[in-house]
Amino acid sequence: MVITLQQHIQPETLHQLKALLTLKQVNFSYLENRNLIVIEKSVDPSVLEGLDGIERIDLIASPYQLSSIKFKKETHFLVNGISIGSRFANLIAGPCSVESEKQIFETAEFLAKNGIRFIRGGAYKPRTSPYAFRGLGVDGLKILKEAATKYNLSVVTELMDLSLLDQLMEYSDIIQIGSRNMSNFYLLAELGKIDKPVMLKRGMSARISEWLLAADYILSGGNEKVILCERGVRSFDPEVRNLMDVAAIPMIQSLSHLPIIADPSHGTGSAKFVAPLALASMVAGANGLMVEIHPDPSKALSDSQQAMSFEAFENLLQDIRKLESAIQKPIDATYEAAQ
Ligand code: PEP
Ligand code: MN
Repeated sequence: MVITLQQHIQPETLHQLKALLTLKQVNFSYLENRNLIVIEKSVDPSVLEGLDGIERIDLIASPYQLSSIKFKKETHFLVNGISIGSRFANLIAGPCSVESEKQIFETAEFLAKNGIRFIRGGAYKPRTSPYAFRGLGVDGLKILKEAATKYNLSVVTELMDLSLLDQLMEYSDIIQIGSRNMSNFYLLAELGKIDKPVMLKRGMSARISEWLLAADYILSGGNEKVILCERGVRSFDPEVRNLMDVAAIPMIQSLSHLPIIADPSHGTGSAKFVAPLALASMVAGANGLMVEIHPDPSKALSDSQQAMSFEAFENLLQDIRKLESAIQKPIDATYEAAQ
């Protein structure tokens, strides 16, 4: 249950409201940044009857509240003038890891030439083995930013730890929270306090409701710019790296106002399956794609198996652009063009 408070609620009125909820033994959270009171379990609304200071009450049966479509119909925000939201689609591409200046500038030039507006690349990599390539750190972030500035791109890159937030605030346009950190609730809560979009990837074994609750951690702090990213879940079958859950896309859209993009690279783990799953995701209604590409996939320092070559990606782009009118979501539209 979400109680939207009146915009200029008097402190005394708010105090009375909170005192009443406490008296009724209702467990609630007052979200000062959003002027809301969220009650985890719905209470009989008649308890609140006749009370001052209330603008609206939304009864939401699910455990997640602010990410629910029962609370808000759609999300829309801009990143460097480009529309992101439940009625739009965006394309994000780039290597798994930032490896060198040459690799990133070549990629950025290629993306710009193909009309892509978002470059991805990890500078701090979550690797299963501590001995694997773990990224170039802040030098990688600087390379991304320089290339993005030169080619008018926005940067999507992963935040691994709160200690790196200042760097990400400076060098990124969208902060990626990876699968392994989806359940890092203290990190998520901190991202609720910032003014920067967050792309929240699905935990590798997260249920839809757990994923939306993770989004609520960010939303409840006041940051409303959240994008979900389906990246596949662990399965019993070693044939594929992950099981790309295409059904999660329309399912999320029936449950939440948040945009959801698909990552068929991690979703399949194999470059040859990325294109079909990318197209399937767009047809299923995704609000965009994130695809790993590399100037020389066989030499990629991480996730080389799933990296598409520039040529293969260009072919995929042609197919995606053919779908644009059918999916009825403008891709990387400026706000004016989307009206
Ligand atoms: C990535 O995007 O490179 C990544 C590490 O993804 P995930 O968190 O989905 O494994
Ligand atoms: Mn990767």
